[in-house]
Amino acid sequence: MKNKDYLVRATAANGQLRAFALRTTELTNEAQKRHDLYPIPSAALGRAMTVSLVLGAMLKTGTVTVHIQGDGILKGLMTSADHQGNVRGYVGNPHAHLPLNAQGKLAVGTAIGEGTLTVVRDSGLKEPYRGTVPLQTGEIGDDFAYYFTLSEQTPSAVSVGVLVDPSKRILAAGGFVVQVMPGASETVISTLERKIATIPPISNLINEGKTPEDVLELILGELDLDFKEKMPVQFKCFCSKERFKQSLITLGIEELEELVTEEETLDLVCHFCEEHYHITIDELNDILNELKEN
Ligand SMILES: [Zn+2]
Repeated sequence: MKNKDYLVRATAANGQLRAFALRTTELTNEAQKRHDLYPIPSAALGRAMTVSLVLGAMLKTGTVTVHIQGDGILKGLMTSADHQGNVRGYVGNPHAHLPLNAQGKLAVGTAIGEGTLTVVRDSGLKEPYRGTVPLQTGEIGDDFAYYFTLSEQTPSAVSVGVLVDPSKRILAAGGFVVQVMPGASETVISTLERKIATIPPISNLINEGKTPEDVLELILGELDLDFKEKMPVQFKCFCSKERFKQSLITLGIEELEELVTEEETLDLVCHFCEEHYHITIDELNDILNELKEN
């Protein structure tokens, strides 16, 4: 599974910690190609999709939506993931570009700017849970760490990274989330903190060929690491022509009649995946007739 994207879930220190690690190189490449992303948008979206997949994996059923709104040139981003390892997403400005920051890294935080991070977890069973926090640095890992601590009362270490080559191809992407469960001992917490302070950037580890299991071994190997689950992850959108046609019903009879009489066809594009859908006059007529019958 060296060149495959997947997520592992584990516990450590007898359940005092829970951890997730994942490789997301291929799915970030898929997003890069679909949206023609420049390096900063690739890094921002890749990082956000990586944490979204972890949030999705925490659900037993349903979906999670992440919305980052910022006043920077990226113009925000949106992702959506489910509990089965599927994720999709887009950024406001796929061609956002800035010089490297003072650390010689992609200036993701500056490109995102100041704003908010919103997470909506929808299990489909009860009212969706919604949490919003102010962005901390816009670097995404920090922002999610703050979100987990403040909004879900679960102190968490979050590290996400994307390595992009000059041709815009994604060399490596991935991340980890380690969460401190209630009642965790001081010793466990300080061991975790010490380990996290010394491990190399996650995108370098993935680029060197380290697997998600290797990454968790590095952090939690001394703390009775116990792997629970392994799940493939991929970029996948849920749009379809049928769904788009359903959404046209909301235009109403008057507007649909106008389109039909003016012989206008519709070209619709899915924001999440850039898939194009062409709706013909005949199809518009069908929707109109269906609407009139009901
Ligand atoms: Zn789509």
